Amino acid sequence: MQDVVEKVYEQVVARNRGEVEFHQAVHEVLESLDPVIAKHPHYAEGALLERIVEPERQIMFRVPWVDDAGQVHVNRGFRIEFNSALGPYKGGLRFHPSVNAGIIKFLGFEQIFKNALTAQGIGGGKGGSDFDPHGRSDAEVMRFCQSFMTELQRHIGPSTDVPAGDIGVGGREIGYMFGQYKRIRNSYDAGVLTGKGLAWGGSLVRTEATGYGAVLFAQSMLATKGDSLEGKKVIVSGAGNVAIYAIEKAQQLGATPITFSDSSGYVVDEAGVDLELLKQVKEVERGRVADYVERRPGARLVTGGSVWDVPGDVALPCATQNELDGDAAATLLRGGCGVVSEGANMPSTPEAVEAFQKAGILFGPGKAANAGGVATSALEMEQNAGRTRWDFATAEAKLTGIMADIHDSCVAAAEEYGRPGDYVLGANAAGFTRVADVMIAHGIV
Ligand code: GLU
Repeated sequence: MQDVVEKVYEQVVARNRGEVEFHQAVHEVLESLDPVIAKHPHYAEGALLERIVEPERQIMFRVPWVDDAGQVHVNRGFRIEFNSALGPYKGGLRFHPSVNAGIIKFLGFEQIFKNALTAQGIGGGKGGSDFDPHGRSDAEVMRFCQSFMTELQRHIGPSTDVPAGDIGVGGREIGYMFGQYKRIRNSYDAGVLTGKGLAWGGSLVRTEATGYGAVLFAQSMLATKGDSLEGKKVIVSGAGNVAIYAIEKAQQLGATPITFSDSSGYVVDEAGVDLELLKQVKEVERGRVADYVERRPGARLVTGGSVWDVPGDVALPCATQNELDGDAAATLLRGGCGVVSEGANMPSTPEAVEAFQKAGILFGPGKAANAGGVATSALEMEQNAGRTRWDFATAEAKLTGIMADIHDSCVAAAEEYGRPGDYVLGANAAGFTRVADVMIAHGIV
């Protein structure tokens, strides 16, 4: 790293002690900026780098709620409004026990550049809570969401900050939160949240968008080599929204996904994942991956090791941050993997990314490859603002166009800064310059 960039990184580490995921996300972006600043030194002036790594606003609050047995719980709520240069803060809410300020900060930081890549006029933010929805009744989840929104509603709005889902937050949670927002504010601001139900302002394709987008990105990367997903064996991690719709799109494009996973283990189904059964288990029954294996002859559940031990041509990490480390990357490479497209946020550790890049395989980083979800959230906001509703084909065509543009922007930036084929550099450089140019135009704010 150049001295000027290194100093910014050191300050981030000193000021945000112990927030290792945030340090990791900042390091990756700053490292990519060396060639950008070498070519355009003005990006290091006016404390632009120091400003971009500092959230505009951080909100942290108490979320008290009562469980079905009458016991009171206290969780912690977060919303980090990181950067509003390009539009209202935009990003999901994550409900998971691992959530803390550092996790939300890393996610919010990534979101700035991801959202810039979509070219949809959205700033970067993220929020969530250390609440664990697993094993909680609908009524408990509703009371939690209502308490969470009772505070959050002061800080959000269709032109201010527009939350959505992430891990642990889907249509049910968005519904409870929207209901509470509307009740307190006495305002049917459909555009204040995205990922809404189709009957009350949601967009077709939003549910599918992140997974579809990650697969479309893989297809675009393969196309640069004259190849495609047709006939490829695909290793998928996760069994949530992203994984399920990555599997669906991969199947549509002629590939064969054979795995998925959750915290209880991973499933290998050599015959190809039975998508209807997986949807039934995860979306309808909110069950575990083991429930799939019980009903699917030939599929096996593996409780030790990692899904990355399974050889395949393409890997789609769709679970969570740092789920794929250096050893897993080496195993994947030995098994013949030639493409990695990240459906989750920062699922590969720096060692894994380095291994993929050294091996010269196609590696699509999350902030580009998984931008389809937030891009479709912006399409939802657009429909809400116009009080209109597009059909599935229209929304999907827009998503496909946006993913192709993101891919091409990454390729062009990687070439411009002298590292053709480096999608990490391409995504960071293209996202950063879009945000930085507007921050400069807006003055010292
Ligand atoms: N949580 C998703 C992400 O990581 C979607 C955010 C949104 O739709 O606002 O990008």
